[in-house]
Amino acid sequence: MSNSQEHLSMPALIEQVIGSGLFSFDGEPYFSWQGCEHCADGLGAAVYDLRGCRSLEDRELYEFQVCGDCIIRLYYGRRGTYHA
Ligand SMILES: [Zn+2]
Repeated sequence: MSNSQEHLSMPALIEQVIGSGLFSFDGEPYFSWQGCEHCADGLGAAVYDLRGCRSLEDRELYEFQVCGDCIIRLYYGRRGTYHA
């Protein structure tokens, strides 16, 4: 396997993958009791199956369940204005 595994927390990893733009997700969200893996607050949430890579150099494919809010916030709000 890849030896480039850094000890990133799951939210940090998700931010890198979404920030890279190298991801795709299924069009239909579904309800998960586990909730979003980025903003997990212990409550269920409607999530998307999202998969992608951190960078063009690191092609390892990651898969997450992330809510639409996080995708939008991390992708479109990645200039640092997404902090509520
Ligand atoms: Zn979320």
